[in-house]
Amino acid sequence: MTIRLSGLSKTFGDFTAVHPLDLTIPEGSFFALLGASGCGKTTTLRMIAGLEEPTAGSVLLGDDDITALPPHRRPVNTVFQNYALFPHLDVQDNIAFGLRRRGIKSVKKQVDEMLELVELGGMARRRPRQLSGGQQQRVALARALINQPRVLLLDEPLGALDLKLRRQMQLELKRIQTEIGITFVHVTHDQEEAMTMADTVAVMRGGRVEQLAEPAELYENPRTAFVANFLGTSNLITAEVTDADADELRIEAAGSTLRLPAARGNGAAADPGGQLLVGVRPEKITLTHGADAEKVAVGRNRLNGRIVDASYLGVSTQYLIDTPACPEFAVYEQNVGRDPRLVPGTDVVLHWDPAHTFGLDAGQD
Ligand code: ATP
Repeated sequence: MTIRLSGLSKTFGDFTAVHPLDLTIPEGSFFALLGASGCGKTTTLRMIAGLEEPTAGSVLLGDDDITALPPHRRPVNTVFQNYALFPHLDVQDNIAFGLRRRGIKSVKKQVDEMLELVELGGMARRRPRQLSGGQQQRVALARALINQPRVLLLDEPLGALDLKLRRQMQLELKRIQTEIGITFVHVTHDQEEAMTMADTVAVMRGGRVEQLAEPAELYENPRTAFVANFLGTSNLITAEVTDADADELRIEAAGSTLRLPAARGNGAAADPGGQLLVGVRPEKITLTHGADAEKVAVGRNRLNGRIVDASYLGVSTQYLIDTPACPEFAVYEQNVGRDPRLVPGTDVVLHWDPAHTFGLDAGQD
């Protein structure tokens, strides 16, 4: 079911946790609210669930305004981080709880279906304390889904799991959402988690949505410095426009001339003399040194620098490079051998396709 938030806001005393928010979450999507602690994502989720009364605005499910409905009358279920399973009930009775409360007696078929969906067949008679954290989370999920909600809300449901299990459950949740096709709204502060699972992500900051986009767009073309830095390393440098035409800006950063496609300027200064920030993701950059440095293709953005640190990270090496534009320009290079290809102290040329450069307004905090 499509969820529409219209001017939805929440204040606690004189503190505004959520500024008036307009947001449409399409039916059947896996939607993530992503942001640092305190940015208002849980409050937003709780207003959708009916657990928090909005200060202003409305929540629509499909065409129905549900703002005034109590939680149990909404076709919405929530899974919390602290599973909240009943310790004295076994797995099947935990899962059946919602149906029995509604007076439904023959629950076996539906419970079995849920056990299969969350891959807990064979565990039906265990108590929660006899389950691992990941298994308990699956029970909590089954218990919410057996009520056949039209929307499932997930509030940091994987927060208590160790990293490996978290990664596994992220894929599981995505599989389950695809299988049942209802709308999932997932709250997390973990950008990798949001990007793994969600088809659309709203990055929140200070009670506002800073950018709403699919994961690749957020990463490749962030609209603000906050989003650029929240989703990885962005190598932001200050630059000045020297020359521009309809397709491209030529900009100068610490003595180097760089090119920026006009379409990736994000509304930053585009006239000669204007200041802007430009960024490029670390894995988009190639490092060349020695005689090969002379052969860097014309038309690529290039900076000169010296390696100050090389950290072996298994899959890749992270180089930090002192350049006139930035003292710690980060570059990730895929590892082929055991040791980093280049050592600290090496003079290098950093170069990349201008199409990977993004521009941002220089006047942001
Ligand atoms: P976290 O990841 O830490 O849960 P969050 O992004 O989900 O953070 P919220 O729980 O939505 O953030 O809280 C947003 C802000 O509103 C916080 O500054 C919080 O302290 C404040 N807040 C939340 N609930 C209340 C309340 N009942 N009374 C007063 N302030 C509150």
